[in-house]
Amino acid sequence: MKNPPNHPADSRDVPEPIRGDGTGWWDLGPRNITRDRENPDLLVPPATDAGTLPNLRFSFSDTYMQLNHGGWSREVTQRQLPIATTMAGVNMALAPGGVRELHWHQQAEWSIMLVGRARITAVDQNGRNFIADVGVGDLWYFPPGIPHSIQGLDEGCEFLLVFDDGKFSDLNTLSISDWFAHTPREVLSANFGVPESAFAYIPDHQRYIFQAEVPRPLEEDRVADPYGEVPLSYTHRLLAQKPQRTPGGTVRIADSRNFPIAKNIAAALVEIKPGAMRELHWHPNNDEWQYYLTGKGRMTVFAGNGIARTFDYSAGDVGYVPFAFGHYIQNTGDKSLWFLEMFKSDRFEDVSLNQWMALTPEDLVAENLDVGAELIDALRKEKWPVVKYPGF
Ligand code: MN
Ligand code: MN
Repeated sequence: MKNPPNHPADSRDVPEPIRGDGTGWWDLGPRNITRDRENPDLLVPPATDAGTLPNLRFSFSDTYMQLNHGGWSREVTQRQLPIATTMAGVNMALAPGGVRELHWHQQAEWSIMLVGRARITAVDQNGRNFIADVGVGDLWYFPPGIPHSIQGLDEGCEFLLVFDDGKFSDLNTLSISDWFAHTPREVLSANFGVPESAFAYIPDHQRYIFQAEVPRPLEEDRVADPYGEVPLSYTHRLLAQKPQRTPGGTVRIADSRNFPIAKNIAAALVEIKPGAMRELHWHPNNDEWQYYLTGKGRMTVFAGNGIARTFDYSAGDVGYVPFAFGHYIQNTGDKSLWFLEMFKSDRFEDVSLNQWMALTPEDLVAENLDVGAELIDALRKEKWPVVKYPGF
């Protein structure tokens, strides 16, 4: 396409909203070129995109950052990404010794350690405790209503928390300091059998995250529990789990089948190698909440009725796919793309388009799509350039 008269657009090293077939025109007005570079499939959508689909991406970089002595947190919930009704995510970091205070909530909490190490504590409804140290690639899970805490160890840490409710906010939950601050002192005195003066210096509001000393080694910090430890472990070593390997990447699935405490949240950690893609598929159980850990990718979501939209994702982004909508994820960068697929469900489930077609009478498939022997043969040979999930 020719430049408009008197505009040096051809010499600008910037992406323009012009498709290869000549549709579109130069963007010569106000624009955020950094954003345009990050979102090539929004600036120039594939010609197959059509219709209205709400936003399916939100970056943790675009949300409020809660800074405390001892750490920080930020969250992507239904408030930031309105379509994400089933789940919400919190990205949190704790300095060495930094504490996410003793608290609980109405939602299930699923977690993965991204950097460093932390100590977690919990006590269940039968008085059984759980105290453990977690490192990179470890998961932990607190059932709804079970009180818990997280504290950074020597090197500090950063992790992702996922809750089974899009309206969740970690800034507005049930905390021990908040409860003490809002209980009459004489009631605290009667409850614990100590004088009111014992509570002279308690915090007058929720502490949320605060700085403390790095805790003692785990063995010295254990609390003997007459009722024993919780029967189902609250942790799972996901990265230690042997991955399912395919030509295009790897996948590790953690759900109630191999992480039995995780009854409300199922996850898959997926690696897509450069040039590969997570095949066309959908999920027959619930919406998909995604978190991108490394690399770059794009996803087109097909909603039926001629509607499809493509989004670009990179590390720190949240993606979302409504229940049963078709999608793929393609690595668009030059290194491995790692991301999490999360579901408000007791198990991971998906339906592969390739598998569906391969297991259907071939004449029916060929006539339905007007395709020839080439595709039918490819399906039969299972030479799929995909990250395929064989399941357990
Ligand atoms: Mn929590
Ligand atoms: Mn999926």
